[in-house]
Amino acid sequence: MDIIIFGATGSIGQNALEVIRSQSKNHSLQVRAITGNDNIDQLCKDAIEFKVERVVTASHKHMPELKDRLSSHGIEVCAGTDAILETAQMKSDWILSAIIGFHGVPPTLEAIKYCRTVAIANKESLVCAGKIANDTAKMYGTTLLPVDSEHNAIFQCLQGEDVSTVRKVTLTASGGPFLNCSLREMENATLDQALAHPTWSMGKRISIDSATMFNKALELIEAKYFFNLNGNQLDVIIHPESIIHSMVSFHDNSTLAQLGPHDMKYAIAYTMNYPDRKSMPLSEIDFATQAKLTFQAVDHSKFPALRLARWILKTDGGLGAVFNAAKEVALDRFISGEIGFLDMTRLVEKVLMMPDITKLEYKIPESLDEVKNINSWTRQITNEIKLNSN
Ligand code: NAD
Ligand code: MG
Repeated sequence: MDIIIFGATGSIGQNALEVIRSQSKNHSLQVRAITGNDNIDQLCKDAIEFKVERVVTASHKHMPELKDRLSSHGIEVCAGTDAILETAQMKSDWILSAIIGFHGVPPTLEAIKYCRTVAIANKESLVCAGKIANDTAKMYGTTLLPVDSEHNAIFQCLQGEDVSTVRKVTLTASGGPFLNCSLREMENATLDQALAHPTWSMGKRISIDSATMFNKALELIEAKYFFNLNGNQLDVIIHPESIIHSMVSFHDNSTLAQLGPHDMKYAIAYTMNYPDRKSMPLSEIDFATQAKLTFQAVDHSKFPALRLARWILKTDGGLGAVFNAAKEVALDRFISGEIGFLDMTRLVEKVLMMPDITKLEYKIPESLDEVKNINSWTRQITNEIKLNSN
C-alpha cells in the first residue's frame, strides 16, 4: 500500500509512522512522501528510515539543509505550500491528513481528488469546507475515514447500521486541565496550565483547544459533516477517564460505544487497515484496574465555545471557516501572551456577532478559493479587534 503523510513530524504523524513501523513486517506498506515544517531533523531521520521518494517542508528557509542532508540518499526534496499541494496529487492508496490548522485544508481537499482513501485528522478540513470535501469525495469515489478518536469511535459504532436509525451521537470530552477549576482560576490560566492535558498527549495547539473546549466545538461541526447529522442529534458529555471515545444511540434507545486506551495509534491503525482489523502491539484496557467510568454534564459557563458551536451547527454556510479562523487567531494571541485564557472565546464570539458575518450564515462556500477568502478576511478582523481587558 502506497502512503503519503501530511504533517509527518507532528503528534499524529509520528504516531502514524509508529503504526507503520509495527505493521511493515507483515504488510507491504510504502511511505512515498512525508511533509513537515520546522522540525527538519525529524523529517530527515524519517525520510531515510522509510526510504521515501519525496520530502517537503512548508518553509523555504529549510530547503538548503534538507538538500544537504537528503540528496545523497536519492530523495527528492521540495519546499513551500505549492509543493505540499503537488504532493497531494501523487498517486497513493492511503493519505493521512495531519497538518495542524487551516494549512491542512488545501492539501486535504486536493488529496481527495487523487487518493483512494483519505484518513482525516485535520478536522479543520471538515469544519471549514465540509460540503466541498464530501462532494469531492463523492465525485472522485474517494473514501474519507475519521482519525479523530471520537469520530473514529462513531464510525466504528455505525458499521453495519443505517444512519437514518441514529437518534443521537454523544461525543465524549475529558474536560481538559480546567475541569475542576473555578471560572476565576480559568481567567488567570497560564499557557503551561492550558497545555497540561490530563489524559491525551497531543500537539501544542490542540492541547490548548482542548482546555477551552474549542477542540470539542470543532469536533461537533466535524461530526455533522462526517456523518450527515444535524445539530440536534449531537451531544457532548464529560468523561474524564477518556476510555469511551464516543457513543451512538439508535431509535430503539440502544446505545453502542467504542472503548480503548487513550492512544491515537488505535484510530490511525483502524483507518489504515479498514475494512480489516490487523493485530497491533498495543495494550488493551484492563477493566479490573480501570474500575470505573464516570460522566458529568458540561458546564457551559466554563466552556462557552460549545455554545458557539451550537449556533454554527444550525447553519450550513461559511460560519465554520469563520469560527476556525477566529479561533486560530485567538489562540495565537493567547500563546503570545496578548490576551487571557477566557478572552479566546470572548474574541471569537465578538467576531461571530459582527453584522458582516451573519450574511455568511446562508452562503455555502462552493470552492476552496471562497473558503480561503473567508479564512484570510476573518483572520484580519480577528487580529484587529481589541478586547476591553487590553
Ligand atoms: P502538531 O502540532 O503536533 O503537528 C502538526 C504538523 O503540521 C507538523 O508535522 C508540522 O510540521 C505541520 N505544520 C505546521 N505548520 C505547518 C504549515 N504552515 N504548513 C504545513 N505543515 C505545517 O499537531 P497534531 O497534534 O499532530 O494535530 C494535527 C491535526 O490532527 C490537527 O488538525 C488536530 O486537530 C488533529 N488531531 C490531533 C490529535 C492528537 O492527538 N494530536 C487527535 C485528533 C485530531
Ligand atoms: Mg478528538
